[in-house]
Amino acid sequence: MPNANALEKITDYDRLVEIFGVSKISKELLKELPSTHKLLEIGYIFAHRDFDKLIAQWKKGEKFAILTGRGPSNALHLGHLLIFEFVKWLQDTFKVPVFIPLSDDEKYVFRKVNTLKDSLYYAYDNALDIAALGFDERDTNFFISSKLLDVYQLAITLSRHVTLNEVKAVFGFSDSDNPGKYFYSCIQAAHILYPTWKKGFRSLVPIAIDQDPYIRLSRDIAERIKLPKPAAIHSKYLPGLTGEPMSASKPETAIFIDDDPYQIKSKIWRALTGGQPTIKEQREKGGNPDKCIVFKWLETFVLTPHEALEWKEKCRSGQILCGECKRKLFEGLARKLYEHHKSKLKVISKAEKYFIHEVD
Ligand code: SF4
Repeated sequence: MPNANALEKITDYDRLVEIFGVSKISKELLKELPSTHKLLEIGYIFAHRDFDKLIAQWKKGEKFAILTGRGPSNALHLGHLLIFEFVKWLQDTFKVPVFIPLSDDEKYVFRKVNTLKDSLYYAYDNALDIAALGFDERDTNFFISSKLLDVYQLAITLSRHVTLNEVKAVFGFSDSDNPGKYFYSCIQAAHILYPTWKKGFRSLVPIAIDQDPYIRLSRDIAERIKLPKPAAIHSKYLPGLTGEPMSASKPETAIFIDDDPYQIKSKIWRALTGGQPTIKEQREKGGNPDKCIVFKWLETFVLTPHEALEWKEKCRSGQILCGECKRKLFEGLARKLYEHHKSKLKVISKAEKYFIHEVD
């Protein structure tokens, strides 16, 4: 089994499903849900571990909790926002608590920030952006990983139930890596199992498919200490605007929440399309929406699933040109971010209500 780092670039999702032994989200499972979400309809959220069992238990009145973390070393980008919007839908649909660890410790030991304090700034700023999506303040629990004694106590407890070899196999660490990285594997498992250990709720973890090995490790540990295993739902990767993965070190790949309209426009104008080299050829031969990042982003952020199907056909038949798509994407995203900033201003005064601060 390849480790999580080696799996990051595989985009043959059927192969990943096979490698990991996860289940695809079937039409039958979708029918069991009280409502649906666009990311489920377009297959962006496509696989799971035990989500079916969790839903069956929920229907019998057993509550679960959603656990979804954020490593704070930068402003959020739209790919992050997408997943948190889905988590908000899960919270609204199933009326369940959400736990959001902000892992300043991870960003420090992996040298993404110079000091823990640097990460703290982003932790609070990211929390405001997430809360601004409309999370229920009575049932949403952010915590700063290095500041919650419970997390440390649980991580220490879990560390006795995992071996260094298992951690190396999952994370791909070598002997030259610092010990903080090794111990962070126990902290991450503590985040995942926190709602179960502390509150008795089985965890549901929305996660990108390449991160499934971390879930598997946490499930193994849970079994060893006789806790219910966490369930997971897996997403595909949203490609960055240039076709590469979205990354803070390559700002042109993503739209960040603090980008201004000029930055958004210039990134979209340079984005990869499936268009022909000339307008004449585009009109005659049509474009290729399946290889077009602009289309992928339109489908994900702007269009309804039905509109996306129509748009695809218009592209293939040469009825639309790439400039039109880019303009539509720019207008949609600029509007989305404008509304987001207005919502963020509204949550600032009640931000404290979302945080767990100490052992209770
Ligand atoms: Fe993509 Fe639109 Fe160009 Fe088609 S017309 S290739 S959907 S940008």
